[in-house]
Formats: sequence, structure tokens, C-alpha cells
Amino acid sequence: MGTTYQVTYVSAEWRATAPRQQLAKAIEDLLVEINQSMSTFIESSTISQINAATDLEKWHPVDRHFQAVLQRSREVYEDTNHAFNPAVGPLVNAWGFGPENPEAFPDEAAVHALLAVVNFDSFEFRESPPSVRKHIAEAKLDFSAIAKGYGVDAIGTLLEEHGIQNYLVEIGGEVRSRGRHANGHPWRIGIEKPAENVVADRTIQMVIELENSGLATSGTYRNYEMKDGKRIAHIIDPATGYPAQNSLLSVSVMAGDTMTADAYATALMVMGLDEGLRFVEARKDLNAYFIATDESKKLVEKRSAGFPSAANE
Ligand code: ADP
Ligand code: MG
Repeated sequence: MGTTYQVTYVSAEWRATAPRQQLAKAIEDLLVEINQSMSTFIESSTISQINAATDLEKWHPVDRHFQAVLQRSREVYEDTNHAFNPAVGPLVNAWGFGPENPEAFPDEAAVHALLAVVNFDSFEFRESPPSVRKHIAEAKLDFSAIAKGYGVDAIGTLLEEHGIQNYLVEIGGEVRSRGRHANGHPWRIGIEKPAENVVADRTIQMVIELENSGLATSGTYRNYEMKDGKRIAHIIDPATGYPAQNSLLSVSVMAGDTMTADAYATALMVMGLDEGLRFVEARKDLNAYFIATDESKKLVEKRSAGFPSAANE
């Protein structure tokens, strides 16, 4: 997934169904399996093969991971008025954040042409056997905004199958917590402060306690390029075809599972601060913490009513 991961669990209660190395191997194998299903950066993956396919008759079989992510993607796509759009692949490629390496940013005509292709309804899904068919040859799926969250949940499920109930799983900043730390306290998570130079300047904006929840952060401060003094970031507004441009630097979303938190974090980045805050305030199952800049480029933070406040140090 192009990032690092970390799994922490309380071992006293692990009734040794497998030694530690065996569990580590099972986690590694699971991640390889998920990448082989949904990574657009692996040419032989299921998603890459579907994206490259031009046969509009063929049903492409997909595995359980793909099926689960596709189904949740469809729900979030509809629920966010398409702000989260897993068919955004051709635009992601054109802007240089996908597996292709274009020489220049697309012009207005190119963006316009690609918008016609970026349509999730170009994909038809069949339950049994689970498979996908394309209606437009150029259509491409991109699960990068949700697959990491799914991977986190899948590792969590694997740990639970081994009798582990107290754990913290993290892939590239997307987190799932269950139970508590061995010290009896809730797991503590740091939310990163958005910074221009994230390598040199990795500071924590806020620490929260996370109890039995998923948490995912989406931001424009880490993965971007500059053009005419403007930040071209990797989150695309599927309504305009251009990278989302608003005052938001990052959004952290809490939801029951991490796949859900991940998908909504990306959608809220597209919506922007005001619309995004209104959206989560109307939802019982979601909470969010927004970091934005005001007119004088100062950092401002906003949170929905149910988002935890900073934990005591
Ligand atoms: P990160 O990968 O940094 O955690 P996200 O979860 O927001 O961030 O995922 C961003 C990735 O999702 C982009 O690199 C791109 O592949 C894809 N993407 C971009 N815009 C959208 C969108 N509006 N809907 C769904 N996926 C998107
Ligand atoms: Mg996301």
C-alpha cells in the first residue's frame, strides 16, 4: 500500500493458537492478498486487470476483499453525493497520482473529456459469483481512498479470530482500536499537525483516546505537487475534475470501522470545511476533526460535537 503498518496487541490473553512469527506471517500474507486484489500500482492485480480490460462483455471475477470494498464504496458514493467516487481513476492518473506518470498536468479540455469517463455507474456488479463488468472501456476503478482502511479492519478481524481482543492496528495513519492498552487505559492516538515539510517537521496536533473505533485521516499536506504557486493534491473533486481546492488541510474521521472512516475522510476533504462539518453533524455514526487555514494562513480547528477532545498528557 506504499506505506508502513503497525500492529500492537495485548499478548497475555492470546491463547497461543499460533506463535508470534506465525501471526506476523498471517498478517503479511493477508496484506499481500489485499494488494494483489486492489492495488492499482501492481500490474497483475485484479483491479489493474479490470482497469486495463476493453472487453465490455466479460465478467471479471473478484475476491471477498474486492467485494466488500466495492459494496461499501457504492454506499459511500451514494451517501456523499459522489464526493467519494471510486471511479475517479482516470483523473487520478491524469493528475499524476496514479500508476501512470504523465509529463504535464491536464488542460481544461482533457479534464472535461475525462469527466465523462469518471462514472461509477460504468461498472456493473454481480453477486454470485462475485464479479464486475465494465460498460465503458476507459473506465477505471481506484480504491486507494478506502483500501487501507479495509486492510486495517481485515487485520483486526484476523487478530480477533486468534482470540485477541485488545489491540491497535495502523496502516499509513488509518487506525482501528479495540479494547484497551495493557496498562488498562484506552489506546492513545496522535493526530499529526499538517506541515509543509512533513519529513523534517512531524509534530502532533492533538492526542486523543480511541476506544473501540476506527479513525482515518485524509490530508492535502503530504501528497501533493506545486503548480503556479498552488498546491495540486491527490484528492480529486469528481464534480469538477480538478484537485480539491479549499481551506482544509486535513480531516480525521471516527467511525465504527476503519474502512468507513477512510472513505468519508476523503469525501469530507472534497466537501470542504463548512459543508463537511454540516454533513457529519447530521450523522450519529460519524464524527470528524477538521484542520484548515483561515484568510491569514493561520491554522484553525473545528470538530463535530462527538469527536473526543485532547486527552490529558
Ligand atoms: P491517503 O491515501 O493519503 O490516506 P485518501 O484516503 O484520501 O488519502 O486517498 C486518496 C487517494 O484516493 C488518491 O491518491 C486517489 O487515488 C484516490 N482519490 C482521489 N480523489 C478521490 C475521490 N474523490 N473519491 C475516491 N477516491 C479518490
Ligand atoms: Mg480515505
